Amino acid sequence: MTHPQTSVTAPAPIRHAMTVDVEDYYHVSAFANVIKPSQWGEWPTTVERNTQRLLDLFDEKQIKATFFVLGWVAERYTDLIRDIAARGHEIASHGYSHQLVYRQTPEEFRSETVRSKQLLEDIVQKPVIGYRAASYSITRDSLWALDILGELGFVWDSSIFPVYHDRYGIPDSPTAPYLAAVSGGRTLLEFPLTTAAVMGYRMPAAGGGYFRLYPYALSRGLFQRATANGTTPAIFYLHPWEIDPDQPRVPGASLLSRFRHYNNLDRCLSRLQALIDEFPFGTVSDSLRSFDLTNSKPVQLAAA
Ligand SMILES: [Zn+2]
Repeated sequence: MTHPQTSVTAPAPIRHAMTVDVEDYYHVSAFANVIKPSQWGEWPTTVERNTQRLLDLFDEKQIKATFFVLGWVAERYTDLIRDIAARGHEIASHGYSHQLVYRQTPEEFRSETVRSKQLLEDIVQKPVIGYRAASYSITRDSLWALDILGELGFVWDSSIFPVYHDRYGIPDSPTAPYLAAVSGGRTLLEFPLTTAAVMGYRMPAAGGGYFRLYPYALSRGLFQRATANGTTPAIFYLHPWEIDPDQPRVPGASLLSRFRHYNNLDRCLSRLQALIDEFPFGTVSDSLRSFDLTNSKPVQLAAA
């Protein structure tokens, strides 16, 4: 005779978050001095073909991801956004204008965030509950943005990189997902970009430019180290243009910006395939569901 299993619920298996910031090569902060927002429409587009390649890879590997869509892109490539959602992925907001949050006023931030959330919700006919700032620009100087996200009905955010960097970062903020206390007695689930502790330093282990810069063995080792306890989910990000060595070149950008942008574009896709083959990935919402925050106290981040 077989016995029914005891009713203890097993925790959901851990899933790391696979995320894509849906924007084109001419939107990046590194080229902001060379290409003005008013000129974006003059550059050849690559966002559709490269996002489609990522969608095909995710279908082939049978994983779902979260796509942070820039409002400017959503407005022009509505069919692409509809296709991402139809293929079962999560749609989140990457703001409208790709301007750094700490260079905006709270009023500017609020109005563009409302606009981009509405745009996406009109396209996918579903609430959009997740947000990521352009270039991780929620820092100690722009923590008011978290209050506004809470007010606008966002449930989670993934805009804080807990490292030192020339353009972003809150170096001593938590490294695992946490509840951030925001205004009005609300909380916002914060999923910080993944880092790995190496000899007391926090090394970025979340993808993007570092994933192209580091040898794959190092990226893999850092990702493994960041997730070694088996209970803390990690978050990985890339941009569609990062898998495209044939994208148009932008003249006039600084040597550092060009190096960061064009380095190892031809290696990114095969590295991504290897990472997906080794680690379990899902959407941000799947990933947060696999992580227990029920007994955690909201964290009050201190403004600058
Ligand atoms: Zn971006």
